[in-house]
Amino acid sequence: MNIADKVLIIGAGPSGLAAALLFADLGYQNITVVERRSSAKDFEKNKAFTYQIDGRGQKLLKRLGLMKDLESFGVANKSFHATTILPDGSSKTIDSPIIDKDRVTCYWTTRRNLQTMLYQAVQRRTDDSIKLLYDHSLSSITEAENGKALVTITDSQDTELQFSPDILLACDGLTSTTRKLLSDWPAMPDSHFEMKKYESPSAKLFYKVLNLPPNFSIKGQQSEVNDHRMAYVFPSIHKDRTKAMALFGFPVANAEHPRSVNIIREADHHLWTLKEADDLITYLTEAFPQLDIPNLISKEEASDFVSLTAGKFPSPQHALSLYARVGREETPTHCLLIGDAAHAFPPDLGLGVNSALEDLYELETYMTDQADISDDFKRYEQHRLVESEALVKLVQTVFPYQYNQSPWRMKMWVIRFLLQHTLHKLLPWFINKPAFLLVQNHQLAYSRILRQKTNTDRVFVWLPLLLLAAVILLLR
Ligand SMILES: Cc1cc2nc3c(=O)[nH]c(=O)nc-3n(C[C@H](O)[C@H](O)[C@H](O)COP(=O)(O)OP(=O)(O)OC[C@H]3O[C@@H](n4cnc5c(N)ncnc54)[C@H](O)[C@@H]3O)c2cc1C
Repeated sequence: MNIADKVLIIGAGPSGLAAALLFADLGYQNITVVERRSSAKDFEKNKAFTYQIDGRGQKLLKRLGLMKDLESFGVANKSFHATTILPDGSSKTIDSPIIDKDRVTCYWTTRRNLQTMLYQAVQRRTDDSIKLLYDHSLSSITEAENGKALVTITDSQDTELQFSPDILLACDGLTSTTRKLLSDWPAMPDSHFEMKKYESPSAKLFYKVLNLPPNFSIKGQQSEVNDHRMAYVFPSIHKDRTKAMALFGFPVANAEHPRSVNIIREADHHLWTLKEADDLITYLTEAFPQLDIPNLISKEEASDFVSLTAGKFPSPQHALSLYARVGREETPTHCLLIGDAAHAFPPDLGLGVNSALEDLYELETYMTDQADISDDFKRYEQHRLVESEALVKLVQTVFPYQYNQSPWRMKMWVIRFLLQHTLHKLLPWFINKPAFLLVQNHQLAYSRILRQKTNTDRVFVWLPLLLLAAVILLLR
């Protein structure tokens, strides 16, 4: 490891900012982060997600000394406590039965708050080791005269900057331009950074984000949404799949911040056909009689919503390699994929941000003091590829029907979950906990959870057949 090396990070999302903080903590003094958004305060509206930072994400935040910050930028929760307010205005508050009682305290935080927290941590550093370049995008990667990669960055005025970094980190998300440009590097094997994609029932669902005020009254009732640290769920009056939906208002740490609600539905949902703000307000007013929609959703918010292009959940996928050494043998650039650039999937298990932060935590454990970092990055890649593949397979199979796109499959999932949970309590040496609970244990590697899940799935296939065979034998 040579701390005089130049580190170039593409993307100042959660993984890019966290990577900059980690490399600065490791002593690197020349770190540049390039971000295409206009400034740190530019929070893309259709990415106003709410994250649950679990034990996996917390490992890195602890390492960076940011747990106190997380406590003020997030809402601590041990169980998933939510108040459901039905169309008739009645309400009930319950702890979700599918949350593991033994998991560590987790923190709800908005993407906006997480980014602000990491940005402020960068700003607090007094050693000038990290330079943030907002309003700049990666445009090309070629070979520099010194044998390293020559990375060209362009700002919104088309002014170019060039870098020849020792380390290049692709933290630019699912559609990573860094990954794509590196794939086009002359000597790069075709499939090196290819994304291996898997089918999933939740991939290809569409989403948009709607902002609700943090607190408000319920129509014609005494009850109020008056606790910004509480999660609220508002089911609609509709039963038909193409009209039914629910609004999930996750907790927000700041009483004055909006609650961003992710609306996730199939391609043929009525919502996606609405083109005018008034049509949206009419539809929501009819769907949610418990809410005073015209007062909760301004015309401006409704216009923004209908004009946004709906996002589409990606297929669960991971890159076939995470590391490449490009340029001349004696003066290479070491390139690594981190976060969504390395593995991406629908948010079924809430592991996107957490696994991105975990990538960095794991990376540090492979970084030694030797001058050539190649071996460290290769060993990291070897370990993390196995975990990425297991993670993607878990997301593909563990809970993809949670968006109620197929109510009977959702019911089957609940029955299987309850049955397995009960059998595990009776026969813990034979039946594992349901995988949805296992992933909440941040100490378990994804590969181990996948093995346990596969074993129990086999038992669930063979046990009924064995029981049937036994009954037939007894009846003979
Ligand atoms: C609807 C939805 C809900 C989600 N909910 C959850 C959840 O509950 N929990 C969870 O853990 N995860 C969730 N995720 C996933 C999570 O958002 C991602 O896993 C996480 O954002 C990955 O972080 P990242 O920094 O790797 O990538 P990103 O967050 O995508 O950041 C990439 C950054 O790079 C910048 N960039 C891109 N290209 C360039 C370029 N060419 N030049 C310069 N900059 C560039 C982008 O502007 C962006 O700031 C959700 C995702 C979706 C779509």
